[in-house]
Amino acid sequence: MSPLTLLSALVLAVACLAAPTATATALPGDPLARHFSSEETHASPSHFDVTTGANGELFVGNYDGVLHYDGVDWRLIALPANVAARSVATGTDGLVYVGSYDGFGRLVRNGEGDFVYEELLTRAGLRGEDRHVGIVWEVMATDAGVWFHTERALHFLPYDEGAARRWPLPAEVRSFYAVGAELLVRVNGKGVCRFDDGEFELLPGGDVFADRALSGVIPREGWNLMVADDGLFISDDDGIRRMSGAADKRVAGKSAYVAQALDDGSVVIGTQDGELIRIGADLQPREILDLGGFAVRALGLDREGGLWVATEGDLVRLSLPSPWSFLGQDHGLVGSPNDFEWYDGAVWLASSRGLQRMTLRPDGGVANERLPWTAFEAQALHASEGGLLVGIREGLLVLDPGAREPRKLFEHPFHGVYGLMESEHDAGLVYAATASELMMLRRPAGRWEIAATIPFDGISAYGIEEAGPGELWLGDSRGPVQRWRIDLDTGQLVEREVFDDARGLPVDPDTGTSVFRLDDRIHAVSGGAGFRFDGERFVPDQAPPVTLVDRPDELVVEHTPLGDFAFTTRQLWRRAPGEDDWQQVYPGASFAAGYSNLRMSRDGVLRVATWDGLLQYNPNEVEARPQPLRLVMERVTARGPAGETLSLPTRTVGEPVQVPPGYGLSLRFGMVSMESGAEFRYLLHGVTPDWSDWTDRDLTIRALAAGDYSLEVQARTRNGRQAAAMNYRFRVEPRWYEQWWVIAFALVALAALAVALTLWAVRQRTERYLAANRRLESRIAERTRELEELNRKLAELVTEDALTGVANRRALENGLRREWFRCLDQRRPLSVLMIDVDHFKAYNDTHGHLEGDVQLRGIAQRLNQQHDPQRELLARYGGEEFALLLPGVHPDEALRRAEMIRAAIATSDAGMTVSVGVAGFVPDVQVEPDALLRRADAALYVAKRAGRNRVAADGG
Ligand code: GH3
Ligand code: MG
Ligand code: MG
Repeated sequence: MSPLTLLSALVLAVACLAAPTATATALPGDPLARHFSSEETHASPSHFDVTTGANGELFVGNYDGVLHYDGVDWRLIALPANVAARSVATGTDGLVYVGSYDGFGRLVRNGEGDFVYEELLTRAGLRGEDRHVGIVWEVMATDAGVWFHTERALHFLPYDEGAARRWPLPAEVRSFYAVGAELLVRVNGKGVCRFDDGEFELLPGGDVFADRALSGVIPREGWNLMVADDGLFISDDDGIRRMSGAADKRVAGKSAYVAQALDDGSVVIGTQDGELIRIGADLQPREILDLGGFAVRALGLDREGGLWVATEGDLVRLSLPSPWSFLGQDHGLVGSPNDFEWYDGAVWLASSRGLQRMTLRPDGGVANERLPWTAFEAQALHASEGGLLVGIREGLLVLDPGAREPRKLFEHPFHGVYGLMESEHDAGLVYAATASELMMLRRPAGRWEIAATIPFDGISAYGIEEAGPGELWLGDSRGPVQRWRIDLDTGQLVEREVFDDARGLPVDPDTGTSVFRLDDRIHAVSGGAGFRFDGERFVPDQAPPVTLVDRPDELVVEHTPLGDFAFTTRQLWRRAPGEDDWQQVYPGASFAAGYSNLRMSRDGVLRVATWDGLLQYNPNEVEARPQPLRLVMERVTARGPAGETLSLPTRTVGEPVQVPPGYGLSLRFGMVSMESGAEFRYLLHGVTPDWSDWTDRDLTIRALAAGDYSLEVQARTRNGRQAAAMNYRFRVEPRWYEQWWVIAFALVALAALAVALTLWAVRQRTERYLAANRRLESRIAERTRELEELNRKLAELVTEDALTGVANRRALENGLRREWFRCLDQRRPLSVLMIDVDHFKAYNDTHGHLEGDVQLRGIAQRLNQQHDPQRELLARYGGEEFALLLPGVHPDEALRRAEMIRAAIATSDAGMTVSVGVAGFVPDVQVEPDALLRRADAALYVAKRAGRNRVAADGG
């Protein structure tokens, strides 16, 4: 359920005021309250007890365990066996103590920053059967320690390590109350007693409670207020006696169940029927609030003046007393409010459903009367001694002083008066706006009359401001701003000036323009941007409140004795008198707005029209003064590189917290504000350049280099209250390789490495020598190969056959070419003999190769003797074959010479024969020299075929 609907569910029942007070004349609305259902708390709707923790957070004894609320989130702290938390109390040591069933203990924060339950039965010395303590009815925290009232005994545990104490209790003992250092207790059949070390000492007159339930004891100056389930009693030195009077009567018959003292000295009493009864500090009855029927089980205050009501069906937080209140459907208000006025002891309301008149009933309630003065909508109201002006859809009415019925001033089928504005400069002048014209209303004879009418001439007036006598500024939802100068005597429009682009005010066609007055200056808004009139033209002016509000084009600024108010439909800002800063106003927690009109009425109450009612601020009501806010570090988690997490201490004093190297931090700040929520900003000194923006409570810090850090955190509530800053100091430890012993080890390792490197270098150098050697060897081998090649080439230059001593084949070829071309030139014949030893293979085979060589040398010598070495060339052509080149020798002569040679060999004693082929001719340029040899060879073949040892001539 939304807070608004919850708020609407709040019903004001009766506020019967026996004696009129300052607040009595105001029309009482509902205090602004928030209901928390189980949908929000995610726990059972049944609650038993409430207490406010050291940091301002709320702890609720719930059917499901202990509920924890920090103004933002609800969390359930489960108890062993999921038993209910029957009672809770905050000790002066800051811890919350819990009584449940068969157990009591306290809440401590674990490493994760979450609250967990820690049992105290052992600390109380309970063993075995004694640990079954049954229901723990009350937990009471006093300065010295904590009391636990169980079914059979009373236990006391001092905060220090002192001995726990235990007193068995008779069955007649009922509820205990800690009053200062004293314990009071009602013993059934006996009365209210002082408990003193196991003794029950009846108070004087305490027997009036022998058979009467005691619901609460409220310490006052020198006496105690005792709240019985059927009335109020006074307990002082004279004893206990009934408190006669209106307050006692108010409480009588209401089944009072709990009582709580409020900060303003008043007392609020919760009943079994779900009502709250407030008794003023003056002991006069104040309001009665019906919270919806669930029995009230417990009451508690938070640090911001909020009253928490734990019932059997929900949890409620309200401000009581509160200057803020709300008049809505519960007071018979219908439709959506347009305007309101305080007139003739009543709140008049102009709404979408017509006109209503709300008055204070004699019993303190609100009477609501709907007036049949319009068939449609009532739009504007203005009250003065001259009567009540009522702008309705069909015209303008006035209720003259003392009259019961209205008088019609103006009539129109559908364009009635939607705005009424009293002149600040001309008493008795009221401007009335219709859709098409501006009327000037005056009271010439004490009665309102229409004095003059000025047509708007097409503009759609959106906000009218009076800057001086007869000087009006008009915004236009479709066009530029206009300034009108009116002759107040004649009601004539003297001058109409238009302020658009040319006068510094660009007009946004979507929004048009609107005007407001602030510090006696005219301001304009167009397209969300602010402008200020400098006497001649408009100049841009980006300044509060335009820059603060969510929807600048909706901005309306009103001036009241309580300060200036700036509002849009969703936001309400206030600048207190004499101050510069604007603060956003949150009337009640997250109160849904829809603000459309704001005015300080003639009864001294500021009222704001909202979508479905009137918000009232009564400055005569004393607002509870909130205690200082407390900013704490709720949780610090370190997160390692691999995602592993570690809980760190949250301390903000003492030694810096150690953070392992390479770990980032995840922090949660805590500042409890039940009013408007909290926001935070931080500065990590030396890391972030400046304060962060205001943000939520979770902060993540990346892994930082080793060193000392200081994180400064500030917090404030959204309505501007600031807490004292806190400083979280932490030290990021050096990484393993930044430790001294690691560094030392690394140095040793480095030295070893240097030695190894040197050795390696030496070895490298040796290897280089070896490689150079290998390269040298390879070069030598290469050179050797080159030498061999050279030798081979040299050999080629050798012209003598090694075996025989005659010319070799190369010499023959060179000689052939030389002689060929010479003979070619000289046209002389060139002849050649091809001489081949017959059957030489057979000789070799028979006599061996060496013997063959000898024979070859012998033949060569004989051939040598058969030629002229000066002119002729004998060569070994290959194997056992010779050639004789005969330049200038005719083939016939060559044939003769061949025969001579054959014969010379054949006749030698060597036993060898040769065959000779002869060829010869005059060389021709067309013929290659080789042809001569081929033809001689062919002739040799012929000779061999013919039987060997013979000569054959080339056949031509
Ligand atoms: P033909 O009468 O047909 O010429 O018979 P041939 O055996 O002389 O000719 P063939 O071509 O069959 O054999 C030539 C032989 O000459 C084979 C080889 O052993 C021998 N010969 C070639 N050069 C040398 C050499 O330098 N020293 C020796 N001892 N023998 C050689
Ligand atoms: Mg041969
Ligand atoms: Mg041969």
